[in-house]
Amino acid sequence: MPDVILRLALPSPLRRLFDYRAPLGMTAADFAPGMRLRVPFGRREMIGVLIEVTEHSEVPAAKLKPALALLDPVSPLPPSLFKLCLWTAQYYQHSLGDTLSWALPVLLRQGDPAEARQERFWQAAADARLDDPRIARAPKQREALTTLAQHPHGVAHALLSKLQLSKDSLDMLLAKGLVTVEVRRHHPEARHQRWLAQPELPLNPEQSAAFQAVRAGFGSYHASLLAGVTGSGKTEVYLQLIRETLEAGKQALVLIPEINLGPQTLARFEQRFNARIALLHSAVNDRERLDAWLAARDGEADIIIGTRSALFTPMKHPGLIIIDEEHDGSYKQQEGLRYHARDLALVRAHQENIPIVLGSATPSLESLHNAYIGRYALLRMDQRAGGAKPPKFMRLDVKSRPLDSGISGPMQQAIGQTLERGQQVLVFLNRRGFAPTLLCHDCGWLSECPRCDARTTVHQRSGELRCHHCGYAERVPRKCPQCGRVDLRPVGAGTERAEERLSILFPDYPVLRVDRDSTSRKDAMAQLFATIQKGQPCILVGTQMLAKGHHFPRVTLVSILDADGGLFSGDFRASERMAQLIVQVAGRAGRAEEPGRVIIQTHLAEHPLLVQLTEQGYFAFADQALSERRAAGLPPFAHLALLRAEAHKPGQAEGFLDEACSAAEQLLGSLQLHAIELLGPVPAPMERRAGRFRAQLLVQASARAPLHKLLSHWMLQLEQMPSGRQVRWSLDVDPVDLY
Ligand code: ADP
Ligand code: ZN
Ligand code: ZN
Repeated sequence: MPDVILRLALPSPLRRLFDYRAPLGMTAADFAPGMRLRVPFGRREMIGVLIEVTEHSEVPAAKLKPALALLDPVSPLPPSLFKLCLWTAQYYQHSLGDTLSWALPVLLRQGDPAEARQERFWQAAADARLDDPRIARAPKQREALTTLAQHPHGVAHALLSKLQLSKDSLDMLLAKGLVTVEVRRHHPEARHQRWLAQPELPLNPEQSAAFQAVRAGFGSYHASLLAGVTGSGKTEVYLQLIRETLEAGKQALVLIPEINLGPQTLARFEQRFNARIALLHSAVNDRERLDAWLAARDGEADIIIGTRSALFTPMKHPGLIIIDEEHDGSYKQQEGLRYHARDLALVRAHQENIPIVLGSATPSLESLHNAYIGRYALLRMDQRAGGAKPPKFMRLDVKSRPLDSGISGPMQQAIGQTLERGQQVLVFLNRRGFAPTLLCHDCGWLSECPRCDARTTVHQRSGELRCHHCGYAERVPRKCPQCGRVDLRPVGAGTERAEERLSILFPDYPVLRVDRDSTSRKDAMAQLFATIQKGQPCILVGTQMLAKGHHFPRVTLVSILDADGGLFSGDFRASERMAQLIVQVAGRAGRAEEPGRVIIQTHLAEHPLLVQLTEQGYFAFADQALSERRAAGLPPFAHLALLRAEAHKPGQAEGFLDEACSAAEQLLGSLQLHAIELLGPVPAPMERRAGRFRAQLLVQASARAPLHKLLSHWMLQLEQMPSGRQVRWSLDVDPVDLY
């Protein structure tokens, strides 16, 4: 009998497959690719995914271990998902086993059966009669039987109390054979004939043009960039496209940034449709996640809504993919498998041959570029659907003006006037805490994190100095640790300080803070928004959390306290992020009668990017920024890969990267690759973080194909390099943050 060798992908960083013998007594016919097996690995056990069954292994037969158990009777992974994972692993130069493990629901990774939850269902027996003499004198049992008879598919055990069915009565009915209990999979609701639970809004001309353009591409791959200002009614367009998808008997996948997963967004989908909606986001527990995944895979969910990783949800009848707020940074995973869900969504749409819509008020420069070169259809919606006018922008030059907790005199006046008119103000400052650092006025000591090359932030409320990079925290010292004197002063301003100062400046108005510190409590956000919706004059102070998802119709002034960070930064994407934030925050404000004003404090009032943004809008800014990127040979006009390394000892990371760099140089020669530059190795912009020394090597290429050719050869060499064992290293293809 020929040997049965199972070739498995294991959740290990090693980019290779692992061979095992079949468990005793099993033959090749028992296996199919995609099935999961439990196998020994070193001293541990792992769950692997079968890639192929062969008869030969390069591992000597004596060393081949048998797999311990086969976990699936059939492959739980549909071929389309498997194909996507293969592509992902190859593109990001990541191990296939680890890629599969990121893509699968946690419970499948852990070896749970790929089956929907079983439940007990109570049902009236087929021949049960309400006038049965055995229950003539038992009104409760008769009542219970009547209720059950109204539910021909049975009642799930968990719902008994909701229907006021007593377990005792049911048990007695069961004993008399008048009801039956069945353990089975939750019965999916029947598909609906009428998908709409609520009427649709008649689309305005811009919406209608966008809708028609996407609809015309239904049935095959077609990518559109829906660039619609905040409030232009993108969501309404999505909803109507989804309705078309459902009517065609297909499923729709909607990705949204984590932070947008407010009840408001979900409610709009749930209220609109009679459809089975599967949710996949961080608040969903592992069991619910697996159930949603299975329902989507088996065609029992019509709409799948989720955050980044929901991209890997299989669909039986894929029809449409929507990426809302496509520019959002949360689509890029920054650890492990460093994928970009938006980019993979395009690959997936292509593989499944279905249309995809990327929507944003502030599209990423990458997507805009793709639209300009004709890869995506560019659909613009420039009018606000509700008739609200766009906000007016003003740059406020604060050079040599005194700042009071970050707020200049003219800004204070503008805030005061707005409040007096009975309107709301939104103050935006993308820095949490009280002050970015603590300074000794006597000796110049600055509070620094002992584990990072970074200052610690003063958090006055909790009396702590905290590092926002590694989570380190200590009590605020009473005297200077260096000279012992007591003149310690917070320098600069964060949201906590702005909140405190504004409460003193405007004691008659409530000041509400929205940032990660103030909203960590559940419901805090909801309460806050309820207050804001009431419409009384007030001041909202917050970070980028304010920029997303919510509308504040009664806000007529948006105060941006500091735009300079985005213009000074060494990170080439900083200005793009700043522009997106400003436009997103500004877009939250104003309504038909009362257009919003946006005042931006800056020391760089004449900076061309800021001038373009405020005078001609986001697209003018983007064009300017794109031409700067082109001139500098930066994405989207070049392709990057970043090799990062970190180690406990200084110099170790650079040592590895030096070797890596020489290896890459040799490969460039031997593979005859051109137009690829190696930049570095250099210490990371923040060299020490969480106690480790970090360095990086940037690979910059003008074309993708040679870059990927280099990477695939290079990674094989890096994995063999002894110096790589002493450091923690990772490759980031298309990095978003270069730190
Ligand atoms: P976006 O997603 O582009 O920010 P929304 O879809 O949230 O915009 O729409 C903004 C507001 O305009 C919502 O209150 C929505 O109900 C309303 N709206 C959208 N489309 C229409 C329309 N065709 N007619 C009237 N109101 C609309
Ligand atoms: Zn001192
Ligand atoms: Zn730190």
